[in-house]
Amino acid sequence: MDTFNADAGAGAPLHSVAASRAALTADSLASLTGEHAALPLLVVTKASPSTNSELLEALAVEPDAWPHMSALVADHQTAGRGRAGREWLTPEGAALTVSYVLRPRLPRERWGLVPLVVGLAAVKTMRSVGIEASLKWPNDVVVNCADETEGGVKGDIAGWGSMRKIAGILCEVYEDAVVAGIGVNVSQTRAELPVPHATSMAMVGVRLLDRALLLDALSRQLAAEINSAEADPDAFVAELASVTCTLGRQVLVERTGASPLTGVAEGIGADGSLTVRTAAGEAVAVTAGDVRLRGAT
Ligand code: ATP
Repeated sequence: MDTFNADAGAGAPLHSVAASRAALTADSLASLTGEHAALPLLVVTKASPSTNSELLEALAVEPDAWPHMSALVADHQTAGRGRAGREWLTPEGAALTVSYVLRPRLPRERWGLVPLVVGLAAVKTMRSVGIEASLKWPNDVVVNCADETEGGVKGDIAGWGSMRKIAGILCEVYEDAVVAGIGVNVSQTRAELPVPHATSMAMVGVRLLDRALLLDALSRQLAAEINSAEADPDAFVAELASVTCTLGRQVLVERTGASPLTGVAEGIGADGSLTVRTAAGEAVAVTAGDVRLRGAT
């Protein structure tokens, strides 16, 4: 299955790891901006410590220069960040590392949906090339590798079960904008991934590893998902729930400033929160936290 279902105009799709790792340049990505393209502005950089940090700095200097859905992509991210000061590690050329400026037309109390919008866009983009991806609330795109021989480390991993992380999302608010960063593991081998619970598109058997096509498809999907969330947030949340593998599972949630919570992840709220039903029967809405999967119920 080779479809990103998008014409990035970047020539024939690339199927080899070597071709996938050829440098992304402004020239090679020129067709991703313009009248019928998803991105009003795309800045391409050879290397960036963190596309989120660089975009946040650029926004602070010149906020009006970055319209909704403008983006910064780095061929190589050298000091990528996760939540809570964690690292996002990717070797040169092997991943897609991009940050978008989003200006959501959602009430502030619903901005918790934004990382999930990015997550749903990434899940659907992965599914368009045949990867049975799902969302691990709130910011991980995962693949169930239970039956895979090449998906990575076999068997259950504490907190992850058979799920392996193929992409991570980091959203940071700057005034009336959100800088939404995503790192997708494209062509890494097992030895090139930093943690056992990670996988890449190549490792789960995808042949189409063209990073330009991936960026185009992801950007178009993101624009579509933002529109859906803005137009009908309740329908958006319902669709989101249908691809969230956290739901229906026993979870342990580690929360900053609060005691850990265990229970069954039951649903997603209108504000993007995760509802966890405790053993005592109480429904707790979690807005931020690390979720460990404890097996299916
Ligand atoms: P967790 O992954 O433990 O649930 P998290 O979702 O908050 O936490 P992030 O902050 O989004 O994680 O990402 C940082 C974490 O992701 C790192 O601590 C590391 O465990 C993992 N990680 C780092 N680089 C990669 C990568 N290329 N692919 C998959 N996982 C990675």
